[in-house]
Amino acid sequence: MSTKATVEKLVSLCKRRGLVFQSSEIYGGIGGFWDYGPLGVELKNNIKQAWWKAVVQERDDVVGQDAAIVMNPTVWKASGHLDTFADPMVDCKECKKRFRADDLVGAVAAGTHGHEAAVKASRCPECGGELTEPRMFNLMFKTYVGPVENDASTAYLRPETAQGIFVNFLNVLTATRKKLPLGIAQIGKAFRNEITPGNFIFRDREFEQMEIEYFVKPGTDEEWHKHWVEERYNWYLGLGLRKENVRVRRLEPEEQAHYAKDTYEVEYLFPMGWSELEGIANRTDFDLRRHAEFSGRELEYFDEESGEHIVPYVIEPSAGVDRLLMAFLVDAYDEEEVRKETRVILRLHKDLAPIKVAVLPLSRNEKLVPPAREVWALVRKHWMSQYDDAQSIGRRYRRQDEVGTPLCVTVDFDTLEDEAVTIRERDSMEQVRVPIAGLVEALREKMNTGD
Ligand SMILES: [Zn+2]
Repeated sequence: MSTKATVEKLVSLCKRRGLVFQSSEIYGGIGGFWDYGPLGVELKNNIKQAWWKAVVQERDDVVGQDAAIVMNPTVWKASGHLDTFADPMVDCKECKKRFRADDLVGAVAAGTHGHEAAVKASRCPECGGELTEPRMFNLMFKTYVGPVENDASTAYLRPETAQGIFVNFLNVLTATRKKLPLGIAQIGKAFRNEITPGNFIFRDREFEQMEIEYFVKPGTDEEWHKHWVEERYNWYLGLGLRKENVRVRRLEPEEQAHYAKDTYEVEYLFPMGWSELEGIANRTDFDLRRHAEFSGRELEYFDEESGEHIVPYVIEPSAGVDRLLMAFLVDAYDEEEVRKETRVILRLHKDLAPIKVAVLPLSRNEKLVPPAREVWALVRKHWMSQYDDAQSIGRRYRRQDEVGTPLCVTVDFDTLEDEAVTIRERDSMEQVRVPIAGLVEALREKMNTGD
């Protein structure tokens, strides 16, 4: 973690610069829901594209799909979510506030011991009132399909994208004629009615997942599990997260989900401590067997080598887009002294930066506007870019630094004579003069990415 980033600073920057807004803010907001503004949606799209490129485009063993959010409710019976996707919850008898039982015990037990912790956890942390016994609270959002609201029409907003992949396993297998190992990747919204959402966009009630279900022959699952842990860890480092802020942790047996044989987490050192970015679980054949049982369909793969029908095992790398976005912001955030002023800078990887190039005329002088507009027209065909002519050039550089724009192009009075412009780099603040005719080429070279 950058020692300079705090959650408060991030929230403030995100609002001020149009990255993330509180949902329905003019009505006082709604807990656990966030909106992405003009720059936020660019950053989010860039994260998703980088993921898709790494796990689908550049691999020959993974294909994509996009399933519906609302599914046949039997899916959630089969997956176990209807019965077990619940948190223990307690209510305060005095102030009526609701808490996660495990949060209370955890919070109090951290600094105390044994009996004392148990006693404290039985009182409301807000008002000291008496608490009810824990009750299980299902985290799925309910809705109704069709005009009648009854049990038969009850459906759920998916709490994970994974099940949309399991139920399509045969469709994808048949349509692609692929052999195992075969991965199916998907990016999409998921919903969990968290009792205590929090830490900005880290734990939301509506969030976006990037998941792969990677189907393998039983017996090769442990080897592929290792492969995916390495792949996913390296992906984060490749996109610039600092090595000292990223770690892989193997979950203890008591931390494992009911379907998992073994799980690793890629964790990031957030301002609130080490927290999960991505879980990489060995889900075994649990899901396919359950769906086979509940649907009556045979969800099997014919292995030509052995001449047998097998139920594949599944390795599942599952990441949350919103918390990744937060991690990339935390990691990129920096402050430095430049000419006795504080320069706030997002040192985002170029692939992730919301704006790649800003075009800045030195001033609003009418002679500079036409060439500056021409330069912008040239640039915007290739990259997400911005034109900014408000306030001094120094201020405009700072504004671009603050949102991580890697390159600024300045059009000045010399441009009128030499038909050249200045490229200024975000991190080094170095400037080079290049002819407009060679600008796109020069920018591309500095960007190190094609378009
Ligand atoms: Zn209370």
